[in-house]
Amino acid sequence: MIADNVLEAAGNTPLIRLNRMTGKEDAEVLVKFEAVNIGGSIKTRTAMKMIETAEKAGRIHKDTIIVEPTSGNQGIGLALIGAVKGYRTIIIMPDSVSEERRKLVQHYGAEVRVIHDEGNIGECIGKCLKAAEKMAEENPHVFVPQQFENPANVMAHREGTGLEIIRQAGKRIDGFCCGIGTGGTITGVGEALREANPRTEIWAVEPEHAAILSGGEVTGHIQMGIGDGLIPRILNQHIYSDIVRISDEEALETARQLAGKEGLMCGISSGSNVAVALRMAKKLGKGKTVVTILPDTAERYFSTQLFEDRNGL
Ligand code: PMP
Repeated sequence: MIADNVLEAAGNTPLIRLNRMTGKEDAEVLVKFEAVNIGGSIKTRTAMKMIETAEKAGRIHKDTIIVEPTSGNQGIGLALIGAVKGYRTIIIMPDSVSEERRKLVQHYGAEVRVIHDEGNIGECIGKCLKAAEKMAEENPHVFVPQQFENPANVMAHREGTGLEIIRQAGKRIDGFCCGIGTGGTITGVGEALREANPRTEIWAVEPEHAAILSGGEVTGHIQMGIGDGLIPRILNQHIYSDIVRISDEEALETARQLAGKEGLMCGISSGSNVAVALRMAKKLGKGKTVVTILPDTAERYFSTQLFEDRNGL
């Protein structure tokens, strides 16, 4: 089949069983491999849904300027859509996110405004949000999708990611876990899974140094895309029964194992998610099925600790 444009080829990513990272007595762990999604991350889904919903509602026209504060992948997704649909796109992001993210946004032809992160990601994302709001006040052509508040973000996962997982697994899913950036994934996928099986156990994943949902302090961490230091409005806080904190070291080590043991090239938050999925698999045990998400590709982390020289290890 010929896709009319690249966006038509988005979604429908593979659901893959882990083989060498799980133990014999563990539940099976299935991972949704979003690294191979168009745009290299799960956020192409949400960018598309937010823009298509706004188009349908008549909130976007050919002179619209899309402006979004984001810690990275959402910006790449919006820049990709801006390229295909011809919208001018401006992405406001913290300077603490990887350089690759900024370059990818620019490579799609979008503009980047960088705001300095003084060691508190929550504060910096707040400043990015304020800068976007100011631009919208000053220019009526500016449209801010506001991924932290936009219900279309959740719908992308409820109707897209969530239903895909149910269809692909073809059996009961006993457990699901993932980290929270905007909360769109855990809310949308979680609600879809619960509808299919009300007994699915759902755990939230938080970086140890941005554990705002479990009452921790927010400082710095490297699990980009999760732990933005705020409680997003679209997050359904009743969807998960447990919150598990993951250190940067464990996230990195698990992401490295995903590449080295399973051949899955994915980002640091994928490591966070799988670290928790492996705990869940131990708890639920053999015969059960646990699902988690690998939100993006490792290839946007070359400049980070994920790729530090390890002498071939
Ligand atoms: N991991 C990465 C790499 C991301 O870019 C995002 C999106 N912020 C997430 C995880 C979390 O997804 P969500 O915004 O749906 O909570």
